Amino acid sequence: MMKKQNKILIANRGEIALRIIRACKELGIPCVAAHSQADRESLHVKFADEAICIGGGKSADSYLNMNNVISAAIATGCNSIHPGYGFLAENEKFIELLERCKLTFIGPGSDAVRKLGDKALARQIAKAAGIPILEGSDGTVRDLKEAERVAGRIGFPLLIKATAGGGGKGISIVNGGDELLKMFELTKMEAEANFGNPDVYLEKHIEKPRHVEVQFLADKHGNVVYFPERDCSVQRRNQKMIEESPSPFVSESLRKQLGEATVKLVKATDYVNAGTVEFIVDEDGNFYFLEVNARIQVEHPVTEVLTGVDLVKEQIRIAYNDELSIKQDDIAFSGHALECRITAEDPLKDFQPSPGLVRNLVLPGGPGIRIDTHLYNDYEVPPHYDSLLAKLIVWAPTRKEAIRKMRVALEQFIIDGVKNNIDILYLILHNTNFVRGIYDTGFMKSFMEILKGEI
Ligand code: ADP
Ligand code: ADP
Ligand code: MG
Repeated sequence: MMKKQNKILIANRGEIALRIIRACKELGIPCVAAHSQADRESLHVKFADEAICIGGGKSADSYLNMNNVISAAIATGCNSIHPGYGFLAENEKFIELLERCKLTFIGPGSDAVRKLGDKALARQIAKAAGIPILEGSDGTVRDLKEAERVAGRIGFPLLIKATAGGGGKGISIVNGGDELLKMFELTKMEAEANFGNPDVYLEKHIEKPRHVEVQFLADKHGNVVYFPERDCSVQRRNQKMIEESPSPFVSESLRKQLGEATVKLVKATDYVNAGTVEFIVDEDGNFYFLEVNARIQVEHPVTEVLTGVDLVKEQIRIAYNDELSIKQDDIAFSGHALECRITAEDPLKDFQPSPGLVRNLVLPGGPGIRIDTHLYNDYEVPPHYDSLLAKLIVWAPTRKEAIRKMRVALEQFIIDGVKNNIDILYLILHNTNFVRGIYDTGFMKSFMEILKGEI
């Protein structure tokens, strides 16, 4: 039951902070924007009921500073914290601290996050739950000898992955034995630098894979539901750029298998709240567990516009002990949803971040269009954070119509002042293979090679 005295601190920024504010307001729950000095002029600060500064521009000084975030919640009388994605969203220490302070974390419990946040351990748990995993090491690989032994068993190419990795960082490909030593040391160093944890594991590299993932919701009363899969195979640097649902590649029977595997894993870990299980699907349609994202995801609107379920509101209700407002049989879908991530990056310079002052902003509109963005004219994109500027989401009765709608919307989306990927997205939406739904995670690399060769 939702109590009158609920009040939510939003420990995030940008478009997701705005998204959460909207859910809070629609539910009638007061919310507070915890923001850095660099985000003073941001829309989430303006639109929240209250705002409180939690430190300097650097993430470590504000959005990642647990003490400041918790103090801000207490000082503003909040009883709960929504972490959004990134930052502290999957930090088990943070969640533990909140549990001790009797603050409600709007997300999974520290136990589930501990089990699933370690990607090597999550593989083991998935395997034990009867979910197919890729060939690889049994847990963390301690030294080169062990790495050589695993490589001997699974062959090349293989991936070395940071157990604490995320956001496409901490993954290296090894094509042969001569590269193993160098890449092993390098990935460990990178993992330590990025995640404060040098542990790595090995996994077989799949050629021409599709990234397919399943959103789920689980409440405290044992109810679990899964949603139709999202295909996120259009990626640059192992990071998603376009997402769609349903996947043009997934059959009804595979959809059911992915969903049931997801529910098994959720139940095996006593996971409560929203999350996503990521899978690799190979050319032959075999699926393998990849990892769990124990939080709301960037691409959650794709599922929202396809099914009509408000995932962020469900997150909040679940955290306040309510039962899910939907059952598995209620999750019907029709038509097709597509999302483009619009980022402040220079596509011709290997998608390097490009902060700066936003000018001449024009947002598209019309039926079936949703835009999640924190942009406004003369907004200064700070250099400290993620390059995501906006998410453009469309729904239409068929995939073809959704593609056409997205093309028109991209034509009418204008952002000057910062380099961005709108033109590239427009070209992808005209690419024959994309239009036919024939693509894998290698799509962007060859697309950019051809593009650069032509200009
Ligand atoms: P999604 O599947 O939600 O798109 P991404 O991998 O693109 O997930 O990451 C979403 C956001 O979270 C990005 O801002 C990314 O930089 C950040 N992120 C993801 N994992 C981590 C992590 N382990 N540590 C820090 N930031 C992360
Ligand atoms: P992160 O935690 O950074 O999101 P993931 O393990 O989810 O890392 O992998 C990110 C992306 O890297 C995947 O979406 C996929 O494109 C690629 N990838 C990961 N594992 C494999 C694999 N075993 N074979 C081929 N590609 C992979
Ligand atoms: Mg992932």
